[in-house]
Amino acid sequence: MNQSANSAGQSPQGRPFIGVHLRCCNHYVRIYLNQQGTAYTGHCPRCATPVRVDVVKEGGSSSRFFTAD
Ligand SMILES: [Zn+2]
Repeated sequence: MNQSANSAGQSPQGRPFIGVHLRCCNHYVRIYLNQQGTAYTGHCPRCATPVRVDVVKEGGSSSRFFTAD
């Protein structure tokens, strides 16, 4: 009878993310919004190149896909 089995290990539900195409390795990854809500950050899983996409304050962009160098 473990009532708290679902409380650990997973990312918070509803955390925003975007898809980024990494040109360095021709690889596609998802990166997640940082705690400040100012940028999406992550890294290339193959070569560890940092990836950052700043949040556009306009909020009107319909693009959810980006390309990183
Ligand atoms: Zn890479």
